Amino acid sequence: MLLINPKNIFKAGIYHTDEYSVPPMNLGVIAALTPESWDIEILDENFDDFEFIPADLVVLTALTSQVTRAYEIAGIYRGKGIPTVIGGIHASMMPDEALGFADVVLKGEAESIWGEVIRDFENGELKSIYQGTLQPLYKSPPPRIDLYHPGYAFGSLQTTRGCPMNCDFCSVHTFNGRKYRCKSVEDVIEEYKSIPQKTLYIIDDDFYGYGKKHAERSKQICRGIIDSGIKKEWYTFVSMNLASDSEALELMFQAGCRMILLGIESELSDQLVAAEKTTNLKVGVENYEQVYAAIHKAGIAVLGSFIFGLDTDTLVTIRNRTDYFINSGVDCIQPGMLTPLPGTGTYFKLQEEGRIIKNNFPKDWERFTFFNNVIQPKNMTHEEFTALMKEEWKRMFDLKVLKRKYLNTLKSTRNVVAAGWALSANLKYHNTVFEGEKEEYNYPEVFKELTSISV
Ligand code: SF4
Repeated sequence: MLLINPKNIFKAGIYHTDEYSVPPMNLGVIAALTPESWDIEILDENFDDFEFIPADLVVLTALTSQVTRAYEIAGIYRGKGIPTVIGGIHASMMPDEALGFADVVLKGEAESIWGEVIRDFENGELKSIYQGTLQPLYKSPPPRIDLYHPGYAFGSLQTTRGCPMNCDFCSVHTFNGRKYRCKSVEDVIEEYKSIPQKTLYIIDDDFYGYGKKHAERSKQICRGIIDSGIKKEWYTFVSMNLASDSEALELMFQAGCRMILLGIESELSDQLVAAEKTTNLKVGVENYEQVYAAIHKAGIAVLGSFIFGLDTDTLVTIRNRTDYFINSGVDCIQPGMLTPLPGTGTYFKLQEEGRIIKNNFPKDWERFTFFNNVIQPKNMTHEEFTALMKEEWKRMFDLKVLKRKYLNTLKSTRNVVAAGWALSANLKYHNTVFEGEKEEYNYPEVFKELTSISV
């Protein structure tokens, strides 16, 4: 069985740089669900150029920005009569499209249905569509990390799936469901111990969760990590409610957390209402600085994810958002453009309004990286928005800004790893948006220059 992690050949978006790409856990889980009698290999285009490897069964998973490439590769194998299965979030949301390129589409999570796919293959009875159902996460086996490419700088660990929130632009709740499902603390610690890398990405959509039970679970995981005596440094996603739990923050730091990604999205309440970002509304935009300060106090940097191009955005609000980042306690920024991922409320709305302008599918899916504009914004032309974002990216990632941010992070977190990771994220996002252009920074040189400042 050949498992394939396709690359986005146009621009691979937020995880395209080697340092921030994470092992393909979905493929690791598929391998773990497959009977031991199978020989399994992963072809990972993050590291290896594609070459045809003979196989009995080919399995691909893809995010939207990878799916164009996934379809190309599926076509190569299909053309040779080798059965191809495609799964993952994009194919789950667009099964009819995916069936034009692969023999089988696996919709939803694989755990409940993979055994049936294998049995049907072995009996020569593969169906076109399999629908997975959401299972309790404690039933999910640990991924086969022995199959991952050894070049990944970060390991990956998942402790939860699903999100009870309903943000309009997000596909997590449509794919993984609105129930917050958890692995057992014991299983998480065992997986943690088995990961070879010293740095780790906990790929949960919210490591801390919602309510006391989830909070206690996250603390137990941190205590388990500390008690294991195995030190790694990691980053993860959380919501702003974490900031009011100083015990959790302290434990996360002690367990190795050095940076967290917060879905800030916007500093304007009306935009949060429109996007149904209720977690942030509960905190209140006027209290955001207290959130950043609480996280810094624990020694952890804040990577803020912002959306540019929301329907009420104008030239002024977009410039203000850049100014907000520059002057705020946010250490580094993921500055994405509003991107209608299939299956989301945003997708259905923009599709109905005829505002998805990059719509030569499947070719144009490779532009859905968050750093290429694919929509007609409400209050400006596509060209104006694209040009404006280039200017804003230049302003937010100006070296003077990054130097000041680095010093501020050092001062507020008193942690050189947190400050280094935040600077690194800023430089990597800059280079992602200016990939191949004259503005691209020489990452090692600039990183060295900015971090050699004595304080
Ligand atoms: S953006 Fe975050 S909080 Fe909102 S639905 Fe997605 S995962 Fe949940």
